[in-house]
Order: sequence, then C-alpha cells, then structure tokens
Amino acid sequence: MADRVPYLTSRLQGFGTTIFAEMSALAVATGAINLGQGFPDTDGPPEVLDAAVDAIRGGRNQYPPGRGVPELRQAIVAHQQRWYGLAHDPDTEVLVTAGATEAVAAACLALCETGDEVVVLEPTYDSYQASIAMAGATPVFVTLRPPGYRLDVDALRGAVTPRTRMLLVNSPHNPTGTVLTPDELAAIAAVACEHDLIVVTDEVYEHLTYDGTAHVPLATLPGMRERTLTISSGGKTFNTTGWKVGWVCGPAELVTAVTTAKQFLTYVNAGPFQPAIAAGLALPDAFFTGLAAQLAAQRDVLCAGLEDAGFTVFRPQGTYFVTVDIRPLRPDGDGMALCRSLPHDCGVVAVPNQVFYADPATGRHLVRFSFAKRPEVLEDAAARLAKLGGKGVS
Ligand code: PMP
Ligand code: GLN
Repeated sequence: MADRVPYLTSRLQGFGTTIFAEMSALAVATGAINLGQGFPDTDGPPEVLDAAVDAIRGGRNQYPPGRGVPELRQAIVAHQQRWYGLAHDPDTEVLVTAGATEAVAAACLALCETGDEVVVLEPTYDSYQASIAMAGATPVFVTLRPPGYRLDVDALRGAVTPRTRMLLVNSPHNPTGTVLTPDELAAIAAVACEHDLIVVTDEVYEHLTYDGTAHVPLATLPGMRERTLTISSGGKTFNTTGWKVGWVCGPAELVTAVTTAKQFLTYVNAGPFQPAIAAGLALPDAFFTGLAAQLAAQRDVLCAGLEDAGFTVFRPQGTYFVTVDIRPLRPDGDGMALCRSLPHDCGVVAVPNQVFYADPATGRHLVRFSFAKRPEVLEDAAARLAKLGGKGVS
C-alpha cells in the first residue's frame, strides 16, 4: 500500500495520480511519442467541428437543459435505433453527462448503498474503481486473462453474492481490446436476470471494432433492456476526447436516479458541444465504418512494430489499445519500470497495465500501447521500438 495521503478521505486512499497524467507528463518532458493516454492526434469530422463553432458563435453558451439539449437527446435515440434497433424516449430515457466518466460515477453514486458490491471486469478502467469507492461500494473482480482475454463465466457466477447490486461491464474493453462475444453477453445477461442485478455497460468504443467483429449492446438481449444503463460518449467516435460529451440510455426510473446524482456533480456541461455531437451522431454509416477501418489499419501498423520489437502481442478486436507481454524483452517482467524507462530508451510512452488490476502483480508484465495516432507516427514509434530488439530494456 502506498503512503497515506494527508487530508484525503479513506475512501480514496491508494488512488494517487492517474497513470494517464503521469505518463502524458513524461511524454511532454521527454518529447517522446505518446502511445500511453488514449487520444487521437487528428481532428474529427469537419461537420462536427463546424457545428461547435456555429453553436459558440450562435450564442449557445449558457447552461443547457439538465438532461441535455433536445437535439442531442434525439440524436442519441436515433443512433441507438439505427445501429442496434433499441428504442428510447428522448425526454425520459436519455441523460447527457460530462463524458462517460461522469456517467459511470453518477451511476455508482445513484444506485449503490454503502457496502453494496459491484462486479467489474479486470483489468478495470481506472475511474471505475474510484467511482465505486466514492459510492462506498466494494468492487468484486472477474479477471480476463491473456492470451485470449475471454470472459470466465464460472468466475462471473462465483463473483455474485447476496450483496451484489450491479454488474459494470465494458465492451469493447479497455485495456485488453476484447469485444464480448454473443455467448459471453448471453452469460452476463443470464447472471443479471437470475440475480436481478442492474447492469451498467460502458460502450465508448462501440464503433471501434475490427475484422468483422460486431459490437452488441447488452441492452439488446432478452430481459436486459429493463435493467441496463448503456453509457457511451462522443470522445472516441468523433476525435473529441476533450469535449467530454457522454450519455446514458436506459429505463426511465434508472435514468432518473442517475440524473439525481449527476445534477449535483456538474449539473450540466459542454453546452455548445452538445449540438455538435448531435451532428456527428447523424453522420452516414460510412463515416462510422470508415473510422473503424482506419483504426484497424493503425492497429496493424502498431502490432507489427511491437512484434518486430520482440514483444508478445495480444491482438485486440476493438478499442484504441493493444496489450503486450514484455517478458521476451525484459525477463524481470517489470512493466512499470519499462514504462518509466521507455521514453528515455527509445522515445515512446506506454502505460503499465498493472494499474488496472486490484493486485498489481497480476498485470505486472503487461503494457498497453495506443494506436490512435496517424500511421506515420505509428511507423516512427515502431522504428524507435525496433531499436530495443535484442538489446533488452534497461
Ligand atoms: N470508459 C472507458 C472504457 C474509457 O476508455 C474511457 C477513456 N476514454 C472513458 C470511459 C472515458 O470517457 P469520457 O472521456 O467520455 O469520459
Ligand atoms: N480513456 C483514456 C485511456 O484509457 C484516458 C482518459 C484519461 O486520461 N482519464 O487512455
């Protein structure tokens, strides 16, 4: 356990500074290529950027309505209908949030009693553990293991206790790049229905799946719509991670509960960016499929570079990220040390997966690289990483 941080509530002891802040600062300090924090290095569609400029110039700079501007709520509903056949009422079943991050936090705060258990997939996106802790709840982990990172259904069943309140699921999954299969989704649905659990699904990478892998929202499975809150965000789909426009869809009573928590966290956010994300969600199918094709090509460039460098690469089916086992290059398997030395050794920043595990030892030898960068940047990173080959890593 790290040293106790003065003043910080016991609920947040041990959380420290996020790894993304630490590694992005290291990238800036060393001038290294930042394949750590997942954000793209190109702008999104001009229609989306123009709509934001128009909204700012058009005076849409005051508080938007609490649940989000009507055109965004309508666009979210139309998007869920177009891609997944899911129907929602834009007035009662949709809430716009300050990114998916606030949606997850508000869901935990709104729905969990102190001492409730939340079952999460491990490795776990870092904000989930903090959100669960702030709600006074307890995380229970179901670990996805390499090389396949498939769901262990028996482990999922074993994780549920009488205190379980919620399943918090993420697919496409950060950091592993796993996309849950129809069988895995059916198993989750069966457990949720059997134990009458609320399911919160984080689908921010919904449009970033590769090789024909389909993203299927859990809410589309039988018995799931009435118990599922589906969370997404415009950040990854429209290259606008700094705008923090997220949303929650689900049955009215669950959305109302989340709205109660959300209104006292931020009340509202991103006024002029909300109509811009609405414009993005209305783009033709070709925009979304083109984005996935572009990211798949970037994945291929980075995976090839990582393989050439000598890492064991776990090829992802989705997201911005690929995880590698570093032990062929660094037999001591110390991913944190590798990430701290990599910018100095070869000018590339990555993120140590150990921060995504309850017991860091489980992910100690694993490191995550983001391929949300232009192909020429990834080629450059690959060339830099190739210098490590055979030399080992300091
Ligand atoms: N969930 C996952 C799985 C993520 O990887 C991220 C980071 N992009 C977020 C949520 C945060 O999304 P947002 O920026 O919309 O808050
Ligand atoms: N979701 C991004 C990632 O996993 C980081 C977001 C953040 O910095 N909190 O890299």
